Amino acid sequence: MYDLHIHSHYSDGSAKIEEIVRKAKEKKLKAIAIVDHSVEHKFGLTEAKARKRQEKIERFSAKYDITVLSGIECGILADGEIALPDFKFDLVIASIHNPLSTNEYYRRITECIKKNDFDVLGHLHSTLFGSVNEDPEKDLEIIDLLKERGIALEINTGHNAPPDNFLQLCRGKRLRYSVGSDTHVVSRIGDVSKAFGLARKFLTNAKFLLDGR
Ligand SMILES: [Zn+2]
Ligand SMILES: [Zn+2]
Repeated sequence: MYDLHIHSHYSDGSAKIEEIVRKAKEKKLKAIAIVDHSVEHKFGLTEAKARKRQEKIERFSAKYDITVLSGIECGILADGEIALPDFKFDLVIASIHNPLSTNEYYRRITECIKKNDFDVLGHLHSTLFGSVNEDPEKDLEIIDLLKERGIALEINTGHNAPPDNFLQLCRGKRLRYSVGSDTHVVSRIGDVSKAFGLARKFLTNAKFLLDGR
C-alpha cells in the first residue's frame, strides 16, 4: 500500500519529514509522496524550501528504507495555469482549490490538462470548496484528456473524491490512478484503504501509478 498525497510543515501540514517517513514505515507502506502546496500560497513550497526538503527526504528515506517521492500540489489557477517552482519533482499534482461556477470549474481543468505537464489530477469534484453540477459529458471529456496526456486520476480519501458516479464513468477507460490521504497530520498517514476498496468496486483491473515498481 502507498500514500501519494501527504503535506508536511514545508507548507500547511504539521508534520516534519522524519515524523512522516517514520510513520509510513510503521504503517508498512511501500512508498509515499510528500506533496506540499505550491507558491500560489504564501506558505507554499518555494525553490529554496524544495531544496531543503529534498535533503531531508533523501536522508530519511535511506534511514527508514522506504521510497519517498518529492512532490508538489499546484492549485489550478485562472486559465488553467499552474505555478511550479524551478525544481525537479518526482510527482506533480494539480488540483482546484477555489469555489468556482460549474463552467469555470470544467474550463480550468480541461485547459490545465491540455497545457501542462503534470502527473496527477487531484481530488476531482471535491465538495470542500463548494460543489459544481457534475456534467457526465464534460466528465467523459476529462477522462479522455487524462488518458491522452498520460495523467493519473487521484482517488483522494481526505476529500472523498472523486464521487462514485465519476468512478463509474471511468470503468473500462484504462486510466491510471493515484491514491492519497491528503493528510496534513501524522495520524492519518496511510489512511488510504478506502481508495483501494473503491477501485475494486468500480474499476476493473485498475492500474496504479507505482504498479510494477
Ligand atoms: Zn488539494
Ligand atoms: Zn493536498
